[in-house]
Amino acid sequence: MTEKSRHKLVIVAIIISTVPFLLLVPSPSLWGLTKSTALWGSSVAGYIGLSLLLWQFILGTRAISGLFFKDLAAKLKLHSWLGTYGIVIFLLHPLLILVAYAEPWQYVLVPSFKNGYESSVTWGRFALLAILLIWLTSAIVRGAISYRPWKYLHYLAYPVLFLSLQHVPDIGTSFKADAIQAYWICYVAITLLCVALRLRHVFGFDKLAYTISFNKQLSDSVHLLRLTPQKRAPGLRAGQYVYLQMGLKTEEHPFTVLDYSSDGDLLVAFKIYGRFTQKLALKLPGDTLLVDGPYGSFLQEPSVPPESVFIAGGIGVTPFVKRALEQPGHYLLYANRTRQSAVLRTVFKKALGNRYTDILSRQDGPLQAGEVSGRISSQIIEQLIPNAPSKHYFVCGPESFTQHVFQELLRLDVPPNQISLEAFSF
Ligand SMILES: Cc1cc2nc3c(=O)[nH]c(=O)nc-3n(C[C@H](O)[C@H](O)[C@H](O)COP(=O)(O)OP(=O)(O)OC[C@H]3O[C@@H](n4cnc5c(N)ncnc54)[C@H](O)[C@@H]3O)c2cc1C
Repeated sequence: MTEKSRHKLVIVAIIISTVPFLLLVPSPSLWGLTKSTALWGSSVAGYIGLSLLLWQFILGTRAISGLFFKDLAAKLKLHSWLGTYGIVIFLLHPLLILVAYAEPWQYVLVPSFKNGYESSVTWGRFALLAILLIWLTSAIVRGAISYRPWKYLHYLAYPVLFLSLQHVPDIGTSFKADAIQAYWICYVAITLLCVALRLRHVFGFDKLAYTISFNKQLSDSVHLLRLTPQKRAPGLRAGQYVYLQMGLKTEEHPFTVLDYSSDGDLLVAFKIYGRFTQKLALKLPGDTLLVDGPYGSFLQEPSVPPESVFIAGGIGVTPFVKRALEQPGHYLLYANRTRQSAVLRTVFKKALGNRYTDILSRQDGPLQAGEVSGRISSQIIEQLIPNAPSKHYFVCGPESFTQHVFQELLRLDVPPNQISLEAFSF
């Protein structure tokens, strides 16, 4: 099954698992602008919100969704789409409660433990406050928050799920219906299964141990790692990536496998950016790394036609190395600041000849053969690639780079279905 079909299947599963609440929640005694209609709407919205929350948990947790998806970027897009817009349904639940009982807005936000009923409502209030915080930091001000604080705030989704599951049987008026209870039991079972899969991942049961054979410095900021499997190796295809981890319960970061051998050794080239890559650069031969993967469908779908054009921004060259060297009919446009930062350029030049071009934005002095000065643009692509609009393009690098090149390719009238992008961030 292709990744696109898997994606569609999951969307269908989300709809099929969510829509029945419209039918299962007992209908109001009187339809219209009545208290019973508001309570019915509130129950339906609450259950659908809970269902979407569980789907977000499934899609946002690699240990679970990675068993089904290889293309994590696409399923993360679906996860964030549900998170951004699903909030509307989630919010309808408390809003309709306010309408039904004519309570002031503070009722749904201010915690109260004055009796058992109010305590149960308060689990829902906490869930609502946490959801609002996650939504604000992820959908509204994500750009202003750095990666790690954002990630830790996102972990609030775990208590939210459990608080919501606790809130429903305690006070849900529609919960008395057998069908709803059966559905709710399924949700609890699925949640527990997801938690078990997550714990399996945290304790490393789905990861492979590798020994570092070498850690070579290729340029000021780029290193090349060779990893040898301690027991078994994953089946890989060119362009896929793995998550590297320095020990259990530490951070995991994604890196493309630049090359791999038949006995399972992996080559990874990484650029030093922050905390993780700084530590990785200090690792020595003989040290162990944990590997999770492979993931990714870049350069797999659609299949790569002959004479495709690979466009790399800096370390974004890694997915192209194996294909460019083994199938030299392709073009490689490699964008860097200077010649020195274009790692492996001599290897590419030798293999690809005049199908390889360095695009250098800050190179001092005269240019050499096969070099172009400036930022990659539609004019540069048109100059370098014969019959440019008819080619297939594969673009990889930082998000801003892939988006810029995408716009330039559209300017050249390249159809969007001939352009595949891989951004080095999620
Ligand atoms: C699919 C994919 C393939 C990649 N392949 C390579 C490669 O071959 N070579 C290479 O040098 N870099 C690659 N990267 C980028 C690499 O993962 C980041 O540079 C690295 O995680 C930075 O971590 P840091 O702590 O050193 O830097 P930081 O400055 O702390 O992080 C920089 C940025 O990296 C991203 N990031 C950090 N942690 C994660 C994480 N766990 N999951 C997803 N994104 C994260 C975030 O966008 C963050 O803002 C790839 C990224 C992706 C998504």
